Amino acid sequence: MMNVQNYIGGKFISAVDGETLFDYNPATEQHIATIPRSKNEDVQLAVTAAQSAQQDWGALSIDERAVWLDKIADALEMKSEEIANLETSDTGKPIALSRKVDAARSVSNFRFFADFSRNQTEMQFVMADAVNYVHRSPVGTVGLITPWNLPLYLLSWKVAPALLMGNTIVAKPSEFTPLTANILAETLDELEFPPGVFNLVHGLGHEVGQSILENEHIKGISFTGGTATGRTVAQTAAPMFKKLSLELGGKNATLVLKDANLDLAVEGAVRAAFTNSGQVCLCGSRILIDATIADAFREKFVEKVNQIRVGDPRDESTTMGSVISPQHLEKVESYIDLALQEGGTILTGGTRKLTGFSGPNQKGAFLLPTVISGLPHTSRCATEEIFGPVVTLHTFENELQAVEMANHSEYGLAGSVWTQDLERGRMVASQIETGIVWVNTWLHRDLRTPFGGVKNSGVGREGGRWSLEFFSELTNICVKDAKDES
Ligand code: NAD
Repeated sequence: MMNVQNYIGGKFISAVDGETLFDYNPATEQHIATIPRSKNEDVQLAVTAAQSAQQDWGALSIDERAVWLDKIADALEMKSEEIANLETSDTGKPIALSRKVDAARSVSNFRFFADFSRNQTEMQFVMADAVNYVHRSPVGTVGLITPWNLPLYLLSWKVAPALLMGNTIVAKPSEFTPLTANILAETLDELEFPPGVFNLVHGLGHEVGQSILENEHIKGISFTGGTATGRTVAQTAAPMFKKLSLELGGKNATLVLKDANLDLAVEGAVRAAFTNSGQVCLCGSRILIDATIADAFREKFVEKVNQIRVGDPRDESTTMGSVISPQHLEKVESYIDLALQEGGTILTGGTRKLTGFSGPNQKGAFLLPTVISGLPHTSRCATEEIFGPVVTLHTFENELQAVEMANHSEYGLAGSVWTQDLERGRMVASQIETGIVWVNTWLHRDLRTPFGGVKNSGVGREGGRWSLEFFSELTNICVKDAKDES
């Protein structure tokens, strides 16, 4: 059992009042760690440490900071297996996924931003008689608040560009998944990273998270999490004129057009629906299918879903683990009950996975991948974010209707279109009100591209130059010759 501490000013310390919380493995219900239940006093300590480090860190050149990012990437890479194991214990996701996605991407986030910065040139706008230079300064101390579904992946996605642009950090990971944020702190400590530049405070959202939002010295907030929490974040931080980036929930549509390559579409739709037990904000949790191919698609889709191996997350052959907690399992199940009340048909799944386990996994929060048909696309199950291994199937008569159905959502984060006509794919994609659309693929990420949502899925974009922009302030310096104008 681990005893995790806050990392403030280059030291590992308990919460000021000594209070702690338990961290559980959702696949076994075992208590795996104790973390500080931090409060406002702890945030104040972290902010003081960050402010003392700000000047020196901000004074380094971007190239010097990029060297640090590379060092962090190398050090994390050495710990890939440890990161994957901790991520699996904290989230219940399969070890193969933790290795391939969480551990690998956490390393590549640091490496990407280091390389990306080396290809940047200063923006200049030349006038007939003057030159405008766009100068970047750090925002200052920034608050980074992250969710449980991709713990270190999403934290490093914010930490890397924030550090690169010269900011100091007060970070708060989800209380459900604190272990890999702690690995990052340990890694920085081992590298003798300048104390106070990166501070980590653990605890509950409405306590330590809210204190970060309310702290007047924190000048920017990058938040990833649910839409309801995002609203609280905006309500608190916007009147204080903090810079704000909100990456929120989604209810993404997978559109299967009549000329889709069916095998490719089925495989992509299954991956989009059930990766990480459906707990990725980009998951395609409603599938819209051309009516003329719906029967064939449905049959192949269910067959493929039944091949998903739900099991012990530590087993190499497992392709789906548990969901994040017993409470979340109950929430997801309540939507399955609702689907039945609303007249839906469960084509596969719908129940807990209770058989085939021996040992501690018998108590885990496992649900079988669930496919529901027969519900209107306007039903609650097809419009509310369930964030679990549940997908609804719907049919459309033509592309106009497909687009209307896709856009019938309060969310607008991502989506995918499956067709062999690439022009049509792009045309349909451009009509979907969303931040990201893939054509014939899903979660195919180029880290230079803008990432973020529209409608209730968020405000702002991260990735590539959008992250650099968020984590810096711009000053336009207009320089005119000092010659006498007369
Ligand atoms: P959540 O909103 O419950 O929590 C996210 C973080 O906010 C946690 O660290 C939590 O402790 C903190 N928090 C909670 N209340 C707070 C408050 N009042 N003030 C400050 N911080 C507070 O989300 P979750 O359940 O951890 O994650 C799942 C959600 O995240 C889903 O809705 C999913 O779609 C979304 N998500 C979005 C993206 C994206 O990029 N758009 C990526 C991953 C997850």
